[in-house]
Amino acid sequence: MPWPKTTTRDATGQLVIGGIPVPQLVAEFGTPLYIYDEATIRAQCGAYREALARHYPGPWRLVYAGKAYLSVGLLQLLAEEGMWLDVVSGGELQLALAAGFPPGRIILHGNNKSEDELRLALQARIGAVVVDNHYELDLLERLHRDTEQQLSVLVRVNPGVDAHTHAYRKTGHLDSKFGLLIETGDASRAVQRILGMPGLRLRGYHAHIGSQVFEVEPYALAVERLFDFAREMAAQFGVVPEEISPGGGLAIQYLPEDPVPDIDLFVRTVADTVQRAAREAGFPLPLLGLEPGRSIIGPAGIAVYRVGAIKEIPGVRRYVSVDGGMADNIRPALYQARYTAALANRDGPAVTRVTIVGKYCESGDVLVNDATLPEPRPGDLVAIAAAGAYCLAMASNYNLALRPAVILVREGQALLLQRRERIEDVLRREFGLHSSAATVAPVELPASP
Ligand SMILES: *Cc1c(COP(=O)(O)O)cnc(C)c1O
Repeated sequence: MPWPKTTTRDATGQLVIGGIPVPQLVAEFGTPLYIYDEATIRAQCGAYREALARHYPGPWRLVYAGKAYLSVGLLQLLAEEGMWLDVVSGGELQLALAAGFPPGRIILHGNNKSEDELRLALQARIGAVVVDNHYELDLLERLHRDTEQQLSVLVRVNPGVDAHTHAYRKTGHLDSKFGLLIETGDASRAVQRILGMPGLRLRGYHAHIGSQVFEVEPYALAVERLFDFAREMAAQFGVVPEEISPGGGLAIQYLPEDPVPDIDLFVRTVADTVQRAAREAGFPLPLLGLEPGRSIIGPAGIAVYRVGAIKEIPGVRRYVSVDGGMADNIRPALYQARYTAALANRDGPAVTRVTIVGKYCESGDVLVNDATLPEPRPGDLVAIAAAGAYCLAMASNYNLALRPAVILVREGQALLLQRRERIEDVLRREFGLHSSAATVAPVELPASP
């Protein structure tokens, strides 16, 4: 089932996560509320670690793809788990540095890194930059000309592999904005340029084929393509990769009928392919980098909303409106993503088919198209499973929604990771026509009559 590992129901039918009834958390922190289960996060990290230890005799590293969901508290937890971190922007990098995440364990990605972002990466002495294009090499050439400091880089190649997922989640097919193409010679020219730049140290090759990928074969194919390319580079420039990464993207279960993605099988497939390809190429075993995002954090999080208006259209459908929606979870609107919903404040036979919609001014603001629930009533709490990845990370202030509070639960304790956004936070960056500083404050209103 797609719920966090510690999920149960208590005697009164309330949903319980991390040893705490969800309604109790809502009473303290309000709705919409995002709840992360620490045990699930640690278990997902552990599953990857154990699989790598079991199947890969060479060195390896696990890199959390922070764009799935990032917060200071989460990064501190992941640092304890020995994870590395992928960031894709200066903002993510600054948050990681503020969290005290070890800079040497941070890797910067992105298809259009700015000069400022690259400068920040150099100043912070991060672990590696994954070079995506020649423009980025131009910037690095200029920025890095006068320093002694060595910057480790990987070359992101486009492996031309179709990941069989939603078009917006594919990244490794030919027609993609990501990565250097092998066919056009762009990738080998990048290798040649890097080898000619004294400040850069070429560590190896990287690919990322997409996200929410259920099949493991595309990963084996991507690894083979990376090694084909590595062999060409060895022949042309005499350079042997110290590191190979087929990225991340392993799927998670959103619906009970979804297949359960197998972390062990995924790791074994990649590890076996790397070993075989390295043997065939006559290379020593490279460091194997894996970059899971969704499969670390997705299953650990749930979203909780309160039911408000219910609209019955006889013979058509019943709309159940909740107090959040596309401002905190745009995935259904963006990818036709589907979710599992349940009532969190009471249990009962699931007898009613409803459409759970958000409160924002878009007809596409649907959270779950076809949920089967006990007869919902205004005031009920609806929980959405597997809401840990790419929900809050894509949250917006659309309709001036304030971002939800986020808590971490562990063994009966709740820890606030991010407080609910306040109107003051939003007004802080407003300038009136007649003021030179942001002085706009919330209006004080009289107490209600
Ligand atoms: C997004 C991304 C990942 C992680 O993808 P998930 O589907 O969250 O596992 C890994 N590597 C790169 C380069 C990415 O862009």
